[in-house]
Parts: sequence; C-alpha cells; structure tokens
Amino acid sequence: MMFDYLIVGSGLYGATFAYKARQAGKNCLVIDRRSYLGGNVRCETVEGINVHCHGPHIFHTDNRKVWDFVNSFVEFNRFIHSPLASYQGRLYNLPFNMNTFYQMWGVTTPEEARKRMGKTCRLSDTNLEEYAISIVGQELYEAFIKGYTEKQWGRSCRELPSKILRRLPVRFVYDNNYYNNRYQGIPIGGYNKLINGLLKGVETRTNADFFDNRHEWESVAKQIVYTGPLDQFFDYKLGHLEWRSVTFEQEVLPVPNYQGVAVVNYTERNVPYTRIIEHKHFEMFGDEVEQHPTTVISREYPKACRLGVEPYYPVNDQRNSVLADQYRNLAAQEKNVIFGGRLAEYKYYDMDTVVEKALLTPNS
Ligand code: UDP
Repeated sequence: MMFDYLIVGSGLYGATFAYKARQAGKNCLVIDRRSYLGGNVRCETVEGINVHCHGPHIFHTDNRKVWDFVNSFVEFNRFIHSPLASYQGRLYNLPFNMNTFYQMWGVTTPEEARKRMGKTCRLSDTNLEEYAISIVGQELYEAFIKGYTEKQWGRSCRELPSKILRRLPVRFVYDNNYYNNRYQGIPIGGYNKLINGLLKGVETRTNADFFDNRHEWESVAKQIVYTGPLDQFFDYKLGHLEWRSVTFEQEVLPVPNYQGVAVVNYTERNVPYTRIIEHKHFEMFGDEVEQHPTTVISREYPKACRLGVEPYYPVNDQRNSVLADQYRNLAAQEKNVIFGGRLAEYKYYDMDTVVEKALLTPNS
C-alpha cells in the first residue's frame, strides 16, 4: 500500500478531497481515465479564449467558506449569469422576471404579470408540467419550459420530477440574475487554475482507467475515493442508472461578438440544440469583448447516454431514484470507499455543493 488514498476521478470532488487530504498529511494518488485533469470543469484555450469544454460552468454559492476556499486558489471575476431565451425568433430575459413578462405581454407591474399568468397560488407538485404551470402559467410554460425540458431530458414533462425546475427562479422584480446566491463568478484565467491549485503537489495520473485494472488499483491505497458513475462501480449488477448526456459542437468564428451574451437558450422543441454558449463572455466584459477579434461558440445537443457515452446529468425520475437508493445501500456497505460528487452520488449537484461535501468528508 503506497498511498493513503486512491482518488478515482480528478473533477472538483476528487481534486478538493485530494487537497484536503494532503493538508492533513495524507498521501494521495489521483487517477483519471481522461487525458487531462479537472473532469467537466476543464477549460481549453482556443483563440486565447477559455472554452468550457463540457458546458457552461458558473460558480455560485451562498456558502462563504466555499467561496473563500475557491478564491484562495484563483480570483473569481464579476460574471453574473443572465442568459436569454430565444423563442420564435424573439429574445427574452431569463430567469422568469419582470423583464420577461414585459417582453412577453407588455405588462409593467407585478400585479398585471400575475394576472396574465393566471396564477392560482395553488402549488401543484405531481410532476414537472403541473408544477411549472402552477408557478408561471400555461403560456410561459409552453414557450420556455416544455420544449427545452423535453429535449434536454428526452421525455415528457409529465414524467419528470418538479425538482429539476426548482433550480430556476421566478421573480416579480426586474432582475436578470439567473441565481439567487450571494456569491457568483468565473475563475479569472479559467477553471484549470483552480484544479491545478487543488492538485499542486499531489501525484496524478491521466489516461488511467480504474476499471481497466481494478484489482491492481485497489491494492495501491488503504482507501478509495470514487467519483465515477455509481452503477459502474458495482458493475451494473442491479441494472443501469439512466443519465443524460450532451454533445458540444464547437466553432471558431471570425467575428468579435456573435451573440452578445454568454448563453442563449433555444426553447423550441424543433431546434435540435438547447443552448449556444459564447465563451468569451465568461471572462471578457464591455469593450474587451470587441477588442478580441475572434470568438468561440458551442452548440449544446442533449442526447441519451448509452454505454461508452459520457454521463452528465442523473435522471431523477421515479425508477432511477429507487435504483439509485438501492445502489447507495450497496455503497454504504463499502467501508473502504468514499463515494463523492455528481456521478458517484447520482445527484444533480452544483459545483459549490460538490466542493462543500468534499471539504466536509472526514479523512480517516
Ligand atoms: N429550463 C427550461 N427552460 C430554460 C432553462 C431551463 O425549461 O430556458 C429547465 C429545464 O428543465 C432544465 C432545468 O430548468 O433542465 C434546469 O436548468 P439549468 O439551467 O439549471 O440547467 P443546467 O445548466 O444544469 O443544464
């Protein structure tokens, strides 16, 4: 046993755990089957722009400790996520707020907006569709939620739990900030700086797949920290958990400013992608944007996740929630393994929760 911990996966959970363990004097080896470290927060520099290769990652949190912790490795900028929705050729502000209601109906007061929505004040929670209609009404549901959600998740809104939508604020004030959190930003210079800071001085190996040589890897450390898909750890013995995946179509364009904002959601069902990301807006503001002559965009196409495809989102419908609980029971019996992060816990975590959980997991 050469190491105290073998950490399988170098994303935010693995890297934060490794940092903390190292601080506690533990000896860690971090392995990742990909050719790079950082998991899905990985950035690549294209045309001098930090590209979020695995989709937009905006750090937001209410947890001061987590915020100070990540800022101790890299300073975060003043980015505030204010995406737009494109629907039938027109643009609307997200999340749902007085600007959206004004753009949709020309209403200027919260009272008029509520009236247009036909809000009943009765929250219905049986499924995502009912919940959505009960919070924003039929018209906004059909324009901005139904098509987007059904292509994102590959199933009817009636078969999805409402909690997916609880991520999205609805406000009766003029405020386009997508998040309600106290702290928000993007690391200046990209997420790799954060990962490199966390993993400084830690032994790492890329192109190293735990499952290619499981017995050997298990013998190198006293304990394992596993951050891969929960069902894969158990060789899918209870069945496959369902995940959603995404394909990114990246393009360099010879213009300084393509869409004027980091994220535009395409909410209609018949547009095959869910959103277009223009990466420079995460780190360039005001005049800086147009001083940089080129831009990089990514179209995001949701897709099913079969074997061999990268899992991104757990599908928390009834069947998968039950199955995930059964796997969690198995995981609890693995005394030498810590399961952490979105994939290993099968939870739709944001980055701050992942960091928080890794910081709270005790080293033994
Ligand atoms: N959503 C929607 N319309 C939008 C944006 C989001 O219906 O324009 C719904 C959709 O179901 C999505 C969920 O809200 O899966 C959560 O959105 P979020 O932006 O948090 O998703 P993420 O960035 O994690 O993909």
